[in-house]
Amino acid sequence: MGSWQKKAMSLKRRIRQQGRHQIWTGRVHGDGYPIIMRGGKIVFVARLLWEKRHGEVPEGRRLRKRRELCTLAKCVAPGCRGLV
Ligand SMILES: [Zn+2]
Repeated sequence: MGSWQKKAMSLKRRIRQQGRHQIWTGRVHGDGYPIIMRGGKIVFVARLLWEKRHGEVPEGRRLRKRRELCTLAKCVAPGCRGLV
């Protein structure tokens, strides 16, 4: 099993499916963003999942919650995000 699959499995245990939303039940950053710690560094779960599906966020672009689709603070679903 590759490291990606292992990572994905451990993440899955902390995600609750709610319709098309994926609600994070793990740790959140001070400002409410779902995070995990990797090697002492903060990793944003939503970005991790989005990049797993779509590839790396291109230089100069940012990942944003699409507020017209999702207002759930702890939702980490890639489908609820888009590049700006
Ligand atoms: Zn959502």
